[in-house]
Amino acid sequence: MPVSTSNTSPKVGFVSLGCPKALVDSERILTQLRVEGYDLVPSYDAADVVVVNTCGFIDSAVAESLDAIGEAMAENGKVIVTGCLGKRADVIREAHPGVLSISGPQDYASVMQAVHAAVPPAHDPFVDLLPDYGLKLTPKHYAYLKISEGCNHRCSFCIIPSMRGDLASRPVDEVLREAERLVKGGVRELLVVSQDTSAYGVDLRYAEREWRGTPRATRMKALCEGLSELGAWTRLHYVYPYPHVDDVIPLMAEGKLLPYLDVPFQHASPRILKLMKRPGAVDRTLERIQRWRAMCPELTIRSTFIVGFPGETDAEFEALLGFLDEAQLDRVGAFPYSPVEGAAANALPDPVPEALKQERLARFMQRQAAISAARLEAKVGTVQRCIVDAIDGELAIARSTADAPEIDGVVQVQDGLAAGLVPGQFVDVEILGSDEHDLYGETAA
Ligand code: SF4
Repeated sequence: MPVSTSNTSPKVGFVSLGCPKALVDSERILTQLRVEGYDLVPSYDAADVVVVNTCGFIDSAVAESLDAIGEAMAENGKVIVTGCLGKRADVIREAHPGVLSISGPQDYASVMQAVHAAVPPAHDPFVDLLPDYGLKLTPKHYAYLKISEGCNHRCSFCIIPSMRGDLASRPVDEVLREAERLVKGGVRELLVVSQDTSAYGVDLRYAEREWRGTPRATRMKALCEGLSELGAWTRLHYVYPYPHVDDVIPLMAEGKLLPYLDVPFQHASPRILKLMKRPGAVDRTLERIQRWRAMCPELTIRSTFIVGFPGETDAEFEALLGFLDEAQLDRVGAFPYSPVEGAAANALPDPVPEALKQERLARFMQRQAAISAARLEAKVGTVQRCIVDAIDGELAIARSTADAPEIDGVVQVQDGLAAGLVPGQFVDVEILGSDEHDLYGETAA
């Protein structure tokens, strides 16, 4: 429960689980609670009611969410559940029949209604202590910017569309106004999130809206151009390799957008990708990566993969390793395939035995670790622009343009304290060393 203030208002505890998209939902609910004068407290004891924002994407997340609800029930007893797992109310009710209310993701109105019923708001029409950029759970200098909800794809391993519905983009002027407020409130880095950033605006037929006196299309490139006018770092997540992604790479080369793409490739075998029902022209991936790098040599590519998908043969797995060698991705996460309740992939034949999945995962990670380490080592001797996240003893913990918060590595600045660095500050760092994940250096002269 990360947020605390103190006054005599009714008190709400808040537990936020799940992905960056769920974090954005939490921020919206917390903002609304503060607008209505609720006090947000960091302990179960002090809370009149507890809201748990859950994740339900994979089975381990379901278990974590149910545990969190159980803990809140045991410690406080008045619990409101929201978020992805809320779509599976029966699972929650079975485990915790006493919860006050259950709602799904983005259902802010239901959460607020349940809070009002449990603890009426204090009668204080003048409670408005809120800065107009809202309340954020992330450190003050970076913020997630959610540009759409839902997804039009139907990847066979994923149940997000059944939980969150089809793609619903936010009009471009609305997103840009929110980004502008965030930057005015001190945010130095905007992290664009959605389920499918490349598809942004297709549901709105790329509708034009006005922002800063100029018409702008609700479309990825126009959004990125607008964001680049704000003077903060902008980082794109969940970008599928559609041809029009090529349009934003020049913005990266020009320094308007961070040269960073988070592209969840998931596999390299065309047959497995077909079984996964993945979007994008999967057979052209390597060509596309080469074109992007030719346009913007500084580009960092992060991706995620699933190993041991049902039916994955030894040859297909070897092809995946071959892809890693050729693609030379900078950052890679991998998961052994794990069936998600309700996902179409569960019905596919030839599941890969658990031990083999683990063996493939280990081989995959080993192969990629060497690639990531070599790519980081190539930066030794260069100077990298970084943003400081924290001061830890003598060190400043910073990130370069190649590092997204929470998921990538960091740059440890050895003389961070001595140089007087503070969180949120940009600094040039001379890179002196590297390992598989992180870089080490000191402030550049
Ligand atoms: S693109 Fe696929 S994996 Fe991503 S949210 Fe949509 S259906 Fe799920």
